[in-house]
Amino acid sequence: MGKVYLTGAGPGDIELLTLKALRVIKAADVIIYDRLANPDILEEAKSGCEFVYVGKEDGRHIMPQDDINETIYQNALKHENVVRLKGGDPFVFGRGGEEAIYLLERDVKFEIIPGITSAISAPAYAGIPVTHRGVAVSFRVVTGHESPNKKVSQIPWDNFKTDDTIIFLMGFHNLPQISKKLMEIGKSADYPVAVISKGTTKDQSVVVGTLENIVEKAKDIPTPALIVVGRVVELREQLKWFEGNA
Ligand code: SAH
Repeated sequence: MGKVYLTGAGPGDIELLTLKALRVIKAADVIIYDRLANPDILEEAKSGCEFVYVGKEDGRHIMPQDDINETIYQNALKHENVVRLKGGDPFVFGRGGEEAIYLLERDVKFEIIPGITSAISAPAYAGIPVTHRGVAVSFRVVTGHESPNKKVSQIPWDNFKTDDTIIFLMGFHNLPQISKKLMEIGKSADYPVAVISKGTTKDQSVVVGTLENIVEKAKDIPTPALIVVGRVVELREQLKWFEGNA
């Protein structure tokens, strides 16, 4: 029985891959991967390495999570070094925890290799520090997948009244409801918002607006995209460094 490396691929820029991730990718007998921000990573594998694609396309899962778990397990029975490669960090909305539990229950050894999450690196490449002295003392990374119109929400919307930074992943399609909800809890219509698309890649684009106008301004932006809400967005004007310099 082999070992499974639940590995973060980073957000897009291939140089944001960790040395540890690169080492296990080079040694892998099989790589089980999602739609990655940067598929060039797979070129680092040794010859003869197998590739298994279990990702999503246009939000449509090509494989249910249960089948992904089982695929990883079956590969661990056959191969010595199994890399499960995921965009960003495997534990930030990556379902890496579920995969680890599945392996644990079947006595398969595993390691977790953290990756640089898009949640902080896309803002960094957009010139938006997620915390900043005197502006934001904390940041939250929140799923935007749940519709804010849901009757019983798992998201503590009422806690979002402060100026702390909120980063929504998987939320682009819910942007109209998210901005409306944030205004309902008391944020002003001119509160700063940024949408960052394809962050850290050469195709990165950023739209800055307010809760009131961001939906209209960002309507043509491609995915993957994340949403940053907070006064820190205003720092981009000074700190923007990446677009055009990549
Ligand atoms: N584990 C990943 C997140 C998976 S959820 C991580 O740590 O980054 C997928 C969501 O992440 C997307 O819907 C999008 O909101 C965000 N995302 C991933 N890569 C991105 C990128 N390069 N630029 C902007 N958003 C990205």
